[in-house]
Amino acid sequence: MAVTLETPLSRVLGPKTATSMAEQLSLHTVRDLLRHYPRRYASRGEQADLADVQVGDRVTVLAQVRSVTTRPMRNRRGSLTEVVVGDGSGRMKLVFFNHRHTALKVNAWGMFAGTVGEYRGEKQFAHPDMHLLDGDTGDDDWARALIPIYPATKDVSSWVIQKSLKLLLGPQGNLAGLVEDPLPEDMRTRHGILPLAAALLDIHRPTTMEDVERAAHRLKWDEALVLQLTLAARRRAAALEPGTARPRRGGALLDAVDAALPFALTEGQRAVGEELAAELDRDQPMHRLLQGEVGSGKTVVALRAMAQVVDAGGQAALLAPTEVLAAQHARGIRDLLGPLGRAGELDGDPAGTRVTLLTGSLKAAARREARAEVAEGRAGIVVGTHALLQEGVDFADLGLVVVDEQHRFGVEQRDALRAKGNRPPHVLVMTATPIPRTVAMTVYGDLEVSTLRQLPSGRGGVSSSVVPVVEKRAWLDRAWERLREEVAAGRQAYVVCPRIGDETGADDEPADVDGAPDDEPQTDRRPPLAVLDVLELLRSGPLAGLRLEALHGRLTPEEKDARMRAFAAREIDVLVATTVVEVGVDVPNATVMVVMDADRFGVSQLHQLRGRVARGKHPGLCLLVTEAPSASATGQRLAAVASTSDGFELARLDLETRREGDVLGAAQSGKRSGVRLLSLLEDEELIAAARGEATALLETERGLADHPGLAAEVARLATDERADYLEKA
Ligand code: ADP
Ligand code: MG
Repeated sequence: MAVTLETPLSRVLGPKTATSMAEQLSLHTVRDLLRHYPRRYASRGEQADLADVQVGDRVTVLAQVRSVTTRPMRNRRGSLTEVVVGDGSGRMKLVFFNHRHTALKVNAWGMFAGTVGEYRGEKQFAHPDMHLLDGDTGDDDWARALIPIYPATKDVSSWVIQKSLKLLLGPQGNLAGLVEDPLPEDMRTRHGILPLAAALLDIHRPTTMEDVERAAHRLKWDEALVLQLTLAARRRAAALEPGTARPRRGGALLDAVDAALPFALTEGQRAVGEELAAELDRDQPMHRLLQGEVGSGKTVVALRAMAQVVDAGGQAALLAPTEVLAAQHARGIRDLLGPLGRAGELDGDPAGTRVTLLTGSLKAAARREARAEVAEGRAGIVVGTHALLQEGVDFADLGLVVVDEQHRFGVEQRDALRAKGNRPPHVLVMTATPIPRTVAMTVYGDLEVSTLRQLPSGRGGVSSSVVPVVEKRAWLDRAWERLREEVAAGRQAYVVCPRIGDETGADDEPADVDGAPDDEPQTDRRPPLAVLDVLELLRSGPLAGLRLEALHGRLTPEEKDARMRAFAAREIDVLVATTVVEVGVDVPNATVMVVMDADRFGVSQLHQLRGRVARGKHPGLCLLVTEAPSASATGQRLAAVASTSDGFELARLDLETRREGDVLGAAQSGKRSGVRLLSLLEDEELIAAARGEATALLETERGLADHPGLAAEVARLATDERADYLEKA
C-alpha cells in the first residue's frame, strides 16, 4: 500500500497509538503527524530547562542521572527511591515508591515527562514517564545532538511521536515521494525558501539549530502564504460586491446627534468621521476597522455614521458582545436622540426613527414586536447581541453594520449579519485592543484600518499598581482604605474576580483566562477567587457599611441590567463583578478598579478592565492584586501592565504571552487558522512578503489555476474553518 499524506495514521501506526494521537492531539493523517512540529529541541548538558520549569507544568526534560538512593519509608511499609537528575543548569528529584528502576544508573541520560510537583521547596516528579537514552541499542536518533521535544500528552509521549515519525520518514528520511511542494519554484528562489520535503525532514530530525531555523522559515511561509491568499481572495470578492451608497444628507438624525453631544469631538473623531462619511457615500461596501484606545470615544464615531445611514433611508445595526453592553448602547443612543429616537410614540418626533433593542432575553411578545419593527423598517437603529444574527431577524434595508469590540466576534458572525442586507451593507468593526501591524495584516487582513490615537482631553488618567499580597500583606489593607476614601469622596468602584462562585457543579462562565500564558492545566493551584465569596468578605470586613452588589453572568439579563442602572445612578458604591464589566461598560463616576487574582487574566483583559475607570474628569486607580511573586514571570507581566497605559505596547506584550492561534482564530486554536510556527511578533517581514506574493498571484489572469497545490491548501484551510464553525453552531 502506498502511503500518501491522506493515509490515516491507523494504517501506519499501532491501533493504540493511532487512537491516542487522534483523541488527544487531533492527529488523524500522515499529513497531521508531519505537521506536528517539535515544541523545542533538547541537547545533552546544554539546555537550561530544569532551571526554568515551574511547579504545575507538564513538561518533558532531557537530563542525566546524578545520584540514586533507596531507603525504607518511615511511616509506611515499602521503600522510597530518590533519583536526582540534572541538566547542567538545574536539578530535580524523581521519586518512586516501591519501585526500583534498575536502568536508572548514575550518568545515564533519559527523557522524563510528567507534571512538576513540589516537596519541601524542591521541585520533583513523582513516578515520571521516562525513556532512557541507551547508546547500546544502536538507536541513532538518541545519538543525535538535538532531540526534538514534541507537544505531548499522557498517553502519547514525546518519544512515541519521535518513533512514529521515524517509522514514517524511514532511516534515510526520504520524503520526496510523499510530499509535493505547493510553492512555485520562482517564489522559493526569490525568498530563499527550502523545498518542503527538506524542511519537514529538518524540522523533525535536525543536526544543528541552523537546520531548524531554515526549516521553520520555509514552513512559516506555507502558513503565511495560505492565510494571505485566503484574505486576498476575501478582499477581491468584497471589492466586486455591489453595495448601496448612503450619502450624508444633512438630515434630521445626524444634526440631532451633533447638537445633543455634550462635548466637542476630538480632532481624531472628526477626521475618522469624515473618512467614514466619504466611504459610506460609495456604492462599494465599506469594510473598515476602527481601532482606538479604551475610552477614546469610538461609540460616538459609530453613532454618527449610523445616523448618516438612517438619514439616507437605510437601517443601521449595532452588534455588541454582551447584553449589558447592548442595553447600555441602546439606552445611551435613546437618551442622546430624545424625541427623535421615539418616532411613532406619543411624545416622539415623526421626523425621527426608532431605536430598537433586540437581545436573546426578550420575552416572546417583545421579541415579535422588535422583529416587526426591524422587518418593516420602523427601527432605523437596531442594537443587539448575537440574537441579531438569528434566523427570523430580517431587515427592511440594512445599510450599515457596526460590530463593537470585535475581538469577541468571529469573521463568520460578521458575515452572518452582512448577509441580512438586500445588498451587502457597509461594515464598521470597532476594537479597543490596539493591534500590531502583523495582526492587522492577518486577523483583520480583509479590512481597511482607521485609528483614534487621542483620548478626549480632560481625562484624569489611571494610575496602576500591583499588590503582591504574599510579599506585602499590608498593601491590600491599604487598597481597601483607598477604595473607601474614593467612595467617601463620592466616587464608585469595581472589584473584579475571575469566578462567580457557589458553583452547582456546572462550569458555567469558567474563569475567562484567554491570554493567560499557561497552556497546561495547573491542577495544584487553589481555585480562583469568586465574586460571591469576595462580596461576603468585603461586606463583613474591610468595606463594611458601603453599598456592595454583585454582577455576573449567572444573573438574569433583567437583574444585570437593573444592577448596571443602579450603579450608573450611584445607588451602588461598589460592584463586585466578573469580567462582564470588561467590555465597554461606561460609568464615568467610577474611579477605582481592584482586580483580584489579577494573574488569572490576560494582558488585554486587564487593560480593558482598567479602561472602565477614569472615564470622566476624576483620576482613576487600578490595583492588580495577586499572589504571584513580583520576581516571577507572571509578576513581571503584571508589573508591565501597571507601568504603561499605552495600548500598542500592551498589545505587543499580549502577543508575547499568547499563542498565535489564540490571536488568529476565534476558535482559539492554531489548527483552525492553520498557524503553528508563524509568530505574529517576530515574522512581520515574512508576513508582509507573503502578503505581497499572495496579492500578486491573485491579480494575475489565471489566479491559482497554475498552482493546484496552493489552491488545495487554501481550500483545506477554508474547509477546516467551515467544519469548525458548523461544529460550534
Ligand atoms: P470607547 O472608545 O472605549 O468605546 P466610549 O465611546 O465608550 O469609548 O467613550 C468613552 C467616554 O468618553 C464616554 O463617556 C463618552 O461619552 C466620552 N466621550 C467620547 N467622546 C468624547 C469627547 N470628544 N470629549 C469628551 N468625552 C467624550
Ligand atoms: Mg466601547
